[in-house]
Amino acid sequence: MTAASISTAAYLVAALLFILSLAGLSKHETARQGWTYGVAGMVVALAATIQLTLHESSVRGSTALVLAISLVVGAAIGLWRARVVRMTGMPELIALLHSFVGLAAVLVGWASYIEVERNGEGGFSGTLLSIHHAEVSLGIFIGAVTFTGSIVANLKLSARIKSAPLVLPGKNLLNLGALLAFVVLTVVFVAEPALWPVIAVTAIALLFGWHLVASIGGGDMPVVVSMLNSYSGWAAAASGFLLDNDLLIVVGALVGSSGAYLSYIMCKAMNRSFVSVIAGGFGIEAPAGGGDGGQGEHRETNADETAELLAGASRVVITPGYGMAVAQAQYPVAELTRTLRARGVDVRFGIHPVAGRLPGHMNVLLAEAKVPYDIVLEMDEINDDFATTDVVLVIGANDTVNPAAMDDPGSPIAGMPVLRVWEAANVVVFKRSMASGYAGVQNPLFFRENTAMLFGDAKTRSDEIVASLASLAALSGTRVAPVPA
Ligand code: NDP
Repeated sequence: MTAASISTAAYLVAALLFILSLAGLSKHETARQGWTYGVAGMVVALAATIQLTLHESSVRGSTALVLAISLVVGAAIGLWRARVVRMTGMPELIALLHSFVGLAAVLVGWASYIEVERNGEGGFSGTLLSIHHAEVSLGIFIGAVTFTGSIVANLKLSARIKSAPLVLPGKNLLNLGALLAFVVLTVVFVAEPALWPVIAVTAIALLFGWHLVASIGGGDMPVVVSMLNSYSGWAAAASGFLLDNDLLIVVGALVGSSGAYLSYIMCKAMNRSFVSVIAGGFGIEAPAGGGDGGQGEHRETNADETAELLAGASRVVITPGYGMAVAQAQYPVAELTRTLRARGVDVRFGIHPVAGRLPGHMNVLLAEAKVPYDIVLEMDEINDDFATTDVVLVIGANDTVNPAAMDDPGSPIAGMPVLRVWEAANVVVFKRSMASGYAGVQNPLFFRENTAMLFGDAKTRSDEIVASLASLAALSGTRVAPVPA
């Protein structure tokens, strides 16, 4: 068997493992298995690429050294980041990783252009040379858009720049102009290869990527993150064409299409136009303000009162949000759930599709704390049940339970479906202050008559409620069933 056929066979195995990985990751129950397939696929892919690279290299010793150093340094940085990253930092880390794929695609495009120039058309001729030049331009363009777009997403998600949309005058014309300029420059470059169109495509794409994501507001960021995931896939596929690497093409297409589909699902869940979001907020006007202030008085409660309310309830729904992740409150919340269920209370969770800062954020946290999957329901599955619920605990959620999305057409989150928690008999909101959520809009829920605010860190307050329920049980001599593990 030749080195090339070994790598082709290995690439096929790796591609199958990646497909199995995606299939596994689509369900809670099989997510771990999917992850294992993904890691196995990456090990096979790396081993095959290394053996092929060494085989094709004329200076094997130094190539092996460079590969070994890159592998050790890359793996060390990756392991370190994975160990230290907090769950709340995952979205911005993912955005940063997307930016690496984009940057790699730009560098591959440039290297490919330079190599062909240096080697006198690099063995290409006629139509093949034109196709190669078109690939270089496209690869650099997608890569550069992904690179700067992902950096802006990283800065917005880590709150280092404000999440409100940047609204430059004529922003849609600017985007359209950038796209047209790219097409014209690519045609010029294919017809008359030269350095200046490559520089111009790179510069325009870098600015375009920045502007595209900067123009999108906080509420629409979930779609942007999955869209950039998709772009990073297409950037990898473009590099695959330039490097003549089939695996990169297959994997890039898998990531590109699954990311695009996820963006579509999220747009549907948020009642947003897919085209509008991918076109940098095309057709979305600057928000009208969302009615801050003037909402009336809010009512405060404490952990003991909340425990008493829960002790008298028979149906409870918990709607977690980003604040639960910040507080790492999933463990006491799981403990609270076990305590209440042991007392015979029907406890369920209602998960909004964009709660937290990445798709599935809440599901991951609840699974981590061993909350049974069958009581964790999607927004559409639970929304009609709030009217017959005694108590809703809103734990660190804000935008996802904001009635302004339904009642205020001028709100930046207008039209986004939300969890209708206010329909329940009692709502207790866990948060530290009256501050707004990620989209920066005030929440009228906090001022409703049936809402009580439980201020403080969500983990501390949940712990206090568990303790308070235990003393209530001790006082009344209630024997609670043993808490399942
Ligand atoms: P929000 O971001 O709207 O609100 C979170 C709330 O948690 C805040 O009001 C904050 O209030 C509270 N909080 C923060 N820390 C704590 C703490 N330690 N203890 C108690 N409360 C705390 O959360 P949602 O999950 O409801 O909504 C998600 C938002 O993020 C949406 O706007 C969504 O579009 C956006 N988004 C989602 C992404 C995704 O893929 N899921 C990706 C990017 C953005 P306070 O400071 O007063 O405590």
